[in-house]
Amino acid sequence: MAGSGICYHPHVTEAPVPKAMKQAGPNQLAIDWSDGHSSVYDVRALRLNCPCAQCVDEMSGKKTLNEASVPADVKPVVINPVGRYAIHIEWSDGHRTGIYTYAHLRGLG
Ligand SMILES: [Zn+2]
Repeated sequence: MAGSGICYHPHVTEAPVPKAMKQAGPNQLAIDWSDGHSSVYDVRALRLNCPCAQCVDEMSGKKTLNEASVPADVKPVVINPVGRYAIHIEWSDGHRTGIYTYAHLRGLG
């Protein structure tokens, strides 16, 4: 019956979302996902994988970030949720344009 309120999208699956995010070590960030998976990230690796337009060429998708310019001890200073799909990270090196979608994070971890 039309208008029953049931919406079925066979190609859209429920994407995992972070349930908990915590510091796992001096340079590690851990995320527990809604599907039970746990990821542990080296925080500098997260910084190097920043997907923003300053770090990745939007046209070619190639990384333009000079990795040597990122301090070895770079750390997240502020982590804020963006809607229900991403987090925004401000880094100790002053970089603050990176928005990491959950799908991107999950792909890294
Ligand atoms: Zn960036």
